[in-house]
Amino acid sequence: KITKMTSSGSATGPHALFVTAPYQGHFAPAVDLAINLAARGFVVTFACTEAFQHQRTASGASSADHRDVFAGARSRGLDIRYELVSDGLPVSFDRHSHPEQFYSALLHLLPSHVDELIRKLLLSEVPVDFILTDTFFSWASTLAKNHGLPCVSFWTKPALVFTLYYHMDLLIANGHFASPENRKDTITYIPGIPAIETTDLASYLRETDTTTPLQQMIARSFEEVKRCDIVLANTVQELEEETIAVLQQEQPFYAVGPVFPDGFTGGTVMTSLWPESDCSSWLDSMPPSSVLYVSFGSIASVSKKDFEEIAYGVLNSKANFVWVLRPGSSGSGAANPLPQGFLEASRERGMVVPWCRQREVLQHPAVGAFLTHCGWNSVAESMWCGVPMLCFPLFSDQPPNRKLVVENLGIGMDLGEIGEVSRGKVSSRIDDLMGGEGGAELRRKMKEVKKAVQGAVAPHGSSQKNLDQFTADLLRLIS
Ligand code: UDP
Repeated sequence: KITKMTSSGSATGPHALFVTAPYQGHFAPAVDLAINLAARGFVVTFACTEAFQHQRTASGASSADHRDVFAGARSRGLDIRYELVSDGLPVSFDRHSHPEQFYSALLHLLPSHVDELIRKLLLSEVPVDFILTDTFFSWASTLAKNHGLPCVSFWTKPALVFTLYYHMDLLIANGHFASPENRKDTITYIPGIPAIETTDLASYLRETDTTTPLQQMIARSFEEVKRCDIVLANTVQELEEETIAVLQQEQPFYAVGPVFPDGFTGGTVMTSLWPESDCSSWLDSMPPSSVLYVSFGSIASVSKKDFEEIAYGVLNSKANFVWVLRPGSSGSGAANPLPQGFLEASRERGMVVPWCRQREVLQHPAVGAFLTHCGWNSVAESMWCGVPMLCFPLFSDQPPNRKLVVENLGIGMDLGEIGEVSRGKVSSRIDDLMGGEGGAELRRKMKEVKKAVQGAVAPHGSSQKNLDQFTADLLRLIS
């Protein structure tokens, strides 16, 4: 275990203040990384916003005592503390309905509350040694430097997405972003990545209005990250070798993913936002590789029309299925957005749940494919389990994630663009993916990818070595 000496002469690990972004897809890998670091001897103070914790508690996913998030890890002797910070808005403020006010708070109000926490931790028995924050916090390195502390940025997504944001200036200079008529031709000039279409850019890089708080937060974050000492990314070096090599010429950039702790399904940490339905006995009753798992993640919403086409496509396919119908995952707003008669017609072969333990579902031998919105955690989990994907990205980083899955790695099929989905295409793609030639080819490729992903976190794997290198760099920075 790594140690440093405190002023009182006792040995301790480096103390990280880890501030996570208040979204399920950011929170879960941050929890995982925190456990990984603590298992290596770091002391971690993990901070999350009060409002996010409140949302988790109110939705019934976790018990009233937020400290339970790391109870299992602590019972194994890991030193992880949990702190809540205000984002500057009242906890009861409806962030979902007023996203721009929320982004504005994350940009302008949250930093002073984090600043207060840093001051408190600097005076604690084990003073904080460095700040670790989600890359989307646009004030992180300035705040850390004000206190003379190193700053480490945690990027929860693949290097491809990072480099597109990182080279925003090139996209602007070439008129592919933030010009009144964004160019639509192929982008060939981003260092370290193959040619990419504009439809593969993160949705925020296709906007023309760059004055909104969200756009400002993103632009500033990628200026700020250049001043961070180290970037840790939840990706795998072998999957993005060239992209990572180019980024590493700019600053220390380490692929340390996938950050799943303690084996894949862990069990000691509750990171979910909603109560989880148990699908295991139903899956046990299904033949191997016969089930399509359908989920669009924790935030995205599918338009009423696309949702209906997908539903009929699933119904008309030969697949059995588990469908996660999270409240809000269909834009129709209906309590049950599935077409009339869907549940009756699919009773024998389908299970619809509001939320599930996705990692367990993907790992079940009955599951043969994943219809996904391509959130990066979902992609990483699917790769870990060797399950090929049918991709329907909706926004944010999901389009470039699809590019990586479908074209660069060849482990998924595309379902088409938003608004262009048809039930015929959905059912034929599902059947090809699960029982046809197309699926067989993807499964061959997936075997190699699964091996690379699992190998990265095995002893002496690339992500383990990168974490070693990160630790060595960090100890130099704080000594
Ligand atoms: N997830 C889950 N149960 C579900 C659906 C999703 O536990 O029923 C988890 C999934 O395993 C993943 C996360 O929620 O870890 C979703 O993250 P992702 O990056 O895929 O998408 P986002 O929610 O950020 O759009």
